[in-house]
Amino acid sequence: MEFVKVLKTSRFLDPVQGYAEVKRYSEVRYDPLTGHSSRILEFPVRAVQRADIAELIKNSRQFCPFCPGVAEQVTPKFHPDLASCERYAIGEALCVPNAFPYDENGAVTIMTHQHYVSLGDFTPGIMTDAMLCCIQYLKDIAERQADMLYQSINWNYMPQAGGSIVHPHLQLAASSSPTNYYAAAVPALRRYHKDHGRDFWVDLADEEHRRGERLIATTGSLSWIVAFAPMGIFDIVGILHDVGSPGDICVEVLENLVAGMLKVMRYIDSLNMNSLNMSLYFHLGNPLFTPHLRICPRVNIPPFDTSQINYMGMLHGETLTILKPEDICSGIRGSWNN
Ligand SMILES: [Zn+2]
Repeated sequence: MEFVKVLKTSRFLDPVQGYAEVKRYSEVRYDPLTGHSSRILEFPVRAVQRADIAELIKNSRQFCPFCPGVAEQVTPKFHPDLASCERYAIGEALCVPNAFPYDENGAVTIMTHQHYVSLGDFTPGIMTDAMLCCIQYLKDIAERQADMLYQSINWNYMPQAGGSIVHPHLQLAASSSPTNYYAAAVPALRRYHKDHGRDFWVDLADEEHRRGERLIATTGSLSWIVAFAPMGIFDIVGILHDVGSPGDICVEVLENLVAGMLKVMRYIDSLNMNSLNMSLYFHLGNPLFTPHLRICPRVNIPPFDTSQINYMGMLHGETLTILKPEDICSGIRGSWNN
């Protein structure tokens, strides 16, 4: 497996040094599966200041459709033609239709009764019940709608990451239409299998294990890796090797999955970042597509709260970051076993 990077050198005349020539370095990295490229800039990394979100939380409490007592009144119920339950409930988690869906089957899992939970305060109980509730819904859709092969569990945690409601909630999709991510990954997996006769995900985990630079940990049948060519400022990938569909997630896999997610969330919190995107992808009936999740933190850049996504991400589909995946791996490994 190849991890291709191209080193770039840029030269200019620096006024600070009497217009002497200076060099700046950057890297273009290519994802070993899809070829998606990311640029890593050489830039002095400054610690992120924790954003003050007290006012945002306070304002968001004025009306919240997901708080207990309100959710039961204002959220929709599933259509009996499409799902076997009106709503799915496990513990405090409640899965309801997304009132503004992106697809045939769009749902939202309200994760807890608590209106706001900081990234470091999520518990195994909250995460387990929320994920189980999502799994129950997706399993049901798979049994009742055979062509909804592209299933995913997604999270926009907090407005900075695209979350329009503060109250913690996951977003589910069960679709007959692939997103661009699937459109790139599915044929690439087929190609890899044809060229090498082996499973990409097993090879990726083995290769990262051999190189030792980006493998965070192996817990049970899950591998946790920092992506070589990240989709965000950094990108943690969890691979569920023994799973094909949501219904295959047994108690042990769920325990390891939740424990890993919580470690990633705590690590992000420890960097004073309080926002993230997550997707757990499934492609039902495709043995080459091992379900995996990606978690990328979201940050705004001081002093003007500048969005991290500029023309490169919006219009060139290119990720920019100043954080080296190998440095992130050393950092997260340090906290993984605490
Ligand atoms: Zn609420």
